[in-house]
Amino acid sequence: RAPHKLLFVEANTSGTGVLALRATRELGLEPVLLTNAPERYVGAGETGCEIVVCDTGTEAGLREAVRERFSRQQISGITTTSEFYVPLVASLARWLELPGNPPQAMANSRNKARVREVLDAAGVGQPRFAVVRSVAETAAALERVGLPCVVKPADDSGSNDVLLCRTSEEARAHVERVLAVEVNVRGLPTARTALLEEFVDAPEFSVEMFSDGGEHFCVGVTAKTVSGGPYFVERQHIFPAPLETRDRTALEKIATDALTALGIRCGATHTEVRLSAAGPVVVEVNARLAGGMIPELIRLATGVELLNQQLRSAIGETPDLEPTHRRFAGIRFLVADREGVLAEITGVERAHQVPGVKQVVITANSGQTVRPPRNSYDRLGFVIAEGDSPENIAKSLDEVHRLLTVRLDAERLH
Ligand code: ADP
Ligand code: CA
Ligand code: CA
Ligand code: CA
Ligand code: CA
Repeated sequence: RAPHKLLFVEANTSGTGVLALRATRELGLEPVLLTNAPERYVGAGETGCEIVVCDTGTEAGLREAVRERFSRQQISGITTTSEFYVPLVASLARWLELPGNPPQAMANSRNKARVREVLDAAGVGQPRFAVVRSVAETAAALERVGLPCVVKPADDSGSNDVLLCRTSEEARAHVERVLAVEVNVRGLPTARTALLEEFVDAPEFSVEMFSDGGEHFCVGVTAKTVSGGPYFVERQHIFPAPLETRDRTALEKIATDALTALGIRCGATHTEVRLSAAGPVVVEVNARLAGGMIPELIRLATGVELLNQQLRSAIGETPDLEPTHRRFAGIRFLVADREGVLAEITGVERAHQVPGVKQVVITANSGQTVRPPRNSYDRLGFVIAEGDSPENIAKSLDEVHRLLTVRLDAERLH
């Protein structure tokens, strides 16, 4: 009998990608990584996954690689852990008659301008917005949205190029910058579209949902601490968010409404919502597993293995989302507070000893240029803690923060 393969069209190049390949094996499937840049995947080889080097940027390139290498019978599912490839995966799944989301729903979800239009038509709460495809359209967009406003690319990720603008000059300059970006970090063409949005100054949450057969199940809500602008960088998450029932219900409802409006039918999603005095507003819908180690927080807090469920969903199995316990977990990201060259981060050993701390991970390298964070690529590492209350977690994370020192190379400061 031919082994059953789960195809990955690229993956996260951080730890999550390799974790997914490993988890695939644990599910009794053979992982296959289709990639145009195998050198990105440090550690992928050790998972024993088959690597197929091909043009992953186009549907034609992917179809050709799949046709050449595999028979339809060998393939159980197709997936990715990189959100940039989600629309391509949906199209390919449809072509191979494998489980997956409707391609149109995934194409819409990958583009924040289309998401705004779909949610607007469905009456789902969201900021005032305007879609801009040339700098000349900025003035009219500002008329609609007002100041201050948030200017962002329609199809990037990790808070990259998301900027709070206080004046029309700032907004215009940033629109120009955003529209000039032709390819994203994966070399895929961008939509060349900017979005102007009303700035919603309110606490932020993410609603972690899992859909199966078009029904949406809420796994839980994450409380986020995000910097207040001009750059918006996630600094800390606590799962589950301490919330009053009324707020939790409102957050779950708006995320469910958003997924329904977009036509999402299966798999994990990560919907960011700000809870304003006037009610919840959708910041964005990510048709993928949450990043920022949130799946690991969920595993610590509830025992639910979201990554495994996402892989099982890709082969058409019904997800198992039953919690085995209820605790709290949190993550804090390490960042630089000024520009410079990283010498070292000290105190890691002692940080590991702090009660409740599960992981202290430094991802930055000595000699690397660092800066106060503007997007999630600027993180230097993270600390994960678990505990029986949000307060205890905050205490552990504060203690670690006190113990860790980011030392920059003085002579090379500029
Ligand atoms: P990305 O897909 O890169 O994460 P987002 O659209 O989620 O981009 O924006 C990143 C962050 O910027 C959000 O998590 C939120 O904190 C902030 N943000 C984005 N849009 C708005 C808005 N209209 N009002 C207030 N904050 C916003
Ligand atoms: Ca996003
Ligand atoms: Ca986001
Ligand atoms: Ca996020
Ligand atoms: Ca199913």
